[in-house]
Amino acid sequence: MVDLTDAPELPGGILRFTLPMFPPLGHVHVWLIPTGNGWAMFDAGFPTPQGVDKLETEIEPLLTDGRRLEAVFISHYHPDHTAFAGRLQRAFGCDVYVHEADWERMRRMQQMRESDDGSGDAFRRRFSSGWTEALDDHEFEGEQSQEAGDGMFSKMRDALKDIDLPMPEPSLLSGGETIDIGGREFEAIWTPGHTEGHLCVRDLDQNALFTGDHLLGRITPHIGMWPDQRRSPLPDFEQSLGLVQELNASIALPAHEAVIEHPAERAGEILEHHQIRRQDMLNAVADGNHTVRDIAIRTFPKRAKDRMQLTMAMSETAAHLEALVEEGELVRSGEGVGRQYSSL
Ligand SMILES: [Zn+2]
Repeated sequence: MVDLTDAPELPGGILRFTLPMFPPLGHVHVWLIPTGNGWAMFDAGFPTPQGVDKLETEIEPLLTDGRRLEAVFISHYHPDHTAFAGRLQRAFGCDVYVHEADWERMRRMQQMRESDDGSGDAFRRRFSSGWTEALDDHEFEGEQSQEAGDGMFSKMRDALKDIDLPMPEPSLLSGGETIDIGGREFEAIWTPGHTEGHLCVRDLDQNALFTGDHLLGRITPHIGMWPDQRRSPLPDFEQSLGLVQELNASIALPAHEAVIEHPAERAGEILEHHQIRRQDMLNAVADGNHTVRDIAIRTFPKRAKDRMQLTMAMSETAAHLEALVEEGELVRSGEGVGRQYSSL
């Protein structure tokens, strides 16, 4: 379990609410920032029953007590950051800001929700990201059936299934905008990588940076690629980390885990982490591993035991391998799930 007893003194009256969610993350934060006469919110939670309860008993009462919710910023389209945006907009008529690329994704997620026949197949296909096809002949340890490995898909589907989650009418951003909300200014910063339209938002009043999943304190965000995707998101992600270093914010407020007291330093650590991963993968290839699956197993041995974990590891492996191809360190032959990588 993650230690969230850090109970930080947050600058500028900023409030943090932690909503429970299923493992491995276990929770997600929603941030409220006081503006002139109202509030701005960063990220819009995930609707587990306890999450809904927290929204109704702790967050919404604040938003009806004289100060109204004026704006919701969404860091990216993943459901643990977006769930309550439409509901809050209906209740308060607030603006909902989201990057245009991730708005497209949110719409597709919604279509998938609507077209789900109850089996969860649509979710499973979407989240297993196609790499699972390469695992048909892979032996998982013990009871690792397809079903067991799909635990997270079913939990996510169940959480989203029975609950009314209206979609917001968004105000689309592309990054670089300064938005005045009740006299407090916010800067939208496009930080592609974890998703194509990921946004960080800087509270210019406090030089505090809301980082969503872009910058996390202990874990590194998932940077992955689907088999049918053309370009690795890793170089974009690294460039976005460079941006965070340049901003030199006084504090980073991420969507998961503890606040980050030294954001620029943390960005540097994550940059280094991906250099080490590159080297691990170059070594794996030099040792005779050529498929995404084999290189992933070699690089992330602990994650090879679980279907879902291995699928995610393969998606991350592909992002590094494609970056290495782009950088002239490896060559790829073939496409899609069956592609192979070799040293020069
Ligand atoms: Zn995410």
